[in-house]
Amino acid sequence: MKILVAVKRVIDYNVQIRVKEDNSGVVTENVKMSTNPPDDNAIEEAVKIKESGKAKEIVAVTIGEDKAQETVRKALAVGADRGIHVKVDGLVEPLAVSKILKNIVEKEKPDLVFMGKQAIDDDCNQTGQMLSALLKWPQATFASKIEVKEKTLEVTREVDEGLETIEVNVPAIITCDLRLNEPRYASLPNIMKAKKKPLELINATDLGIDTKPRIEQIKVEEPPKRKAGIKVANVAELVNKLKNEAKVI
Ligand code: AMP
Repeated sequence: MKILVAVKRVIDYNVQIRVKEDNSGVVTENVKMSTNPPDDNAIEEAVKIKESGKAKEIVAVTIGEDKAQETVRKALAVGADRGIHVKVDGLVEPLAVSKILKNIVEKEKPDLVFMGKQAIDDDCNQTGQMLSALLKWPQATFASKIEVKEKTLEVTREVDEGLETIEVNVPAIITCDLRLNEPRYASLPNIMKAKKKPLELINATDLGIDTKPRIEQIKVEEPPKRKAGIKVANVAELVNKLKNEAKVI
């Protein structure tokens, strides 16, 4: 089995996001960037499946600017065999990403595509679903457990009511939840070895795919600052304030 894993470079989840002064977006210059967290789970799961002998090859793919290559290198350092970087300058929306991934899937012919359930920068939660529609492949989203069967996958998903277990035919698109596994760290020797693993560079313009944004971002603003709280002396004062000042009871 061959597994393709989509990894996106995003602002690190520990960074305090700052909005640009002209409200045109968020500051990305000199800001720590990392792999989108659920994409680390997607890579980890693919590596575990390979370690169990059920997969032969893992290909990590990223779509983005030059520096997005770092994300593929990290995937190679934790166990992916090969990398693909599709170069696109500027913002690339889920529809364009899924069209590019469709093109890569048609060339690479993987049995499974693993992705994150959501990118923490755009919070779209769309790319896996769009790719599934474009390829007409089954999808299992928000996977928190994956079991590889003969020609199917059994996937446990986190839904509002609890856990849902479904079976999907292979080939399939799986989007991974943070609860799926504990991603491993890349060791220094593996980071060094990853530098020698093959990484193919493709220009999105050579694929003939229109990556123009369909969404116009009008402005980005900081959320309103929270007002300072107050301390009340007793329950009677609290009830009085809730009734007469906040008017919520
Ligand atoms: P989104 O639909 O933007 O929330 O992204 C969902 C998932 O799609 C991510 O967790 C990634 O696995 C994948 N993805 C989105 N954008 C990219 C990108 N530019 N490069 C590689 N994978 C991506």
